[in-house]
Amino acid sequence: MKSFDYTRANSADEALSVINSVNTAKFLGGGTNLLDLMKEGVEQPDHLVDVTRLSLAKIEELPDGRIRIGAMARNSDTANHPLIRQRYPVLSQAVLAGASPQLRNMATVGGNLMQRTRCYYFININLPCNKRVPGLGCGAIDGFNRIHAILGASQQCIATHPSDMCVALAALDAVVRVQGNNGEREIPITEFHRLPGDNPEIETELQPGELITALDLPSLDWANNSYYLKVRDRASYAFALVSVAVALDIQNNTIQDARVAMGGVAHKPWRANEAEEMLIGQQPREETFRQAAETALAGAQTYEHNAFKVELGKRAIVRALSTVAASA
Ligand code: SF4
Repeated sequence: MKSFDYTRANSADEALSVINSVNTAKFLGGGTNLLDLMKEGVEQPDHLVDVTRLSLAKIEELPDGRIRIGAMARNSDTANHPLIRQRYPVLSQAVLAGASPQLRNMATVGGNLMQRTRCYYFININLPCNKRVPGLGCGAIDGFNRIHAILGASQQCIATHPSDMCVALAALDAVVRVQGNNGEREIPITEFHRLPGDNPEIETELQPGELITALDLPSLDWANNSYYLKVRDRASYAFALVSVAVALDIQNNTIQDARVAMGGVAHKPWRANEAEEMLIGQQPREETFRQAAETALAGAQTYEHNAFKVELGKRAIVRALSTVAASA
């Protein structure tokens, strides 16, 4: 591993000051992804700014009913917090579906937002990858692409975003709070991660030097009727082949509002807006859920090894919506 300098920041201002004074500095949270990538030579920062001691781990209800999760809250604390379990079960389930208990005890919410793809070509510095080295080519497009994207990909990159948590956050319309040299700003989670386009190396809307400070969950009184379904090769410690986060507001046997987001299918958590629109006003029946699933995957483009994800994604949507409808 390349050697690096290390600073433990005592305040957000100190962290920003250090990060802006070194070109290749990175914030260090739980380190569960970044340190692995540094050992492989994929990430080579000159300086790490440890932000785990900042006072950013609180999970609290705001006066207007929103829930604020500090960026340094550990994944396990977030998943098991009573407010999250009761009001946003889809988020608790998604976090608990990720990684292992040991990793969830270390990993932070802010770090989870910044997870990088597990594309085999990206994490092997001997293989071509436009995301790791722009212009080098994409080994996955004509290579082994079983885990790769079927929605929103480009000729430069077909990687998927690995996070479970972010799929639930997309369904809930969470907001990312960040702090930079020009003060604080908010970024809707659905706009936080980018599609690859011609610049797959740029993965989020964060500006250089900006620090994630918190996540805000909107007050959504029907989000307790929500569910996260993850389909993977083995029962634990595996990334999603396809995942679905859903929530339904059902009154008088009619769907008043709906949320459908997918993971494992795109470069970012994929919100299925058109599928949601077609669900509203309908009765919660399996035929309706299948139509929504067909709509959600209508634009899918497959590669040699990942065509199975299309039908898998449709069935996952139907099953997730059926599960939520049955418990409404
Ligand atoms: Fe790299 Fe993206 Fe291609 Fe994977 S899919 S090799 S991350 S450019």
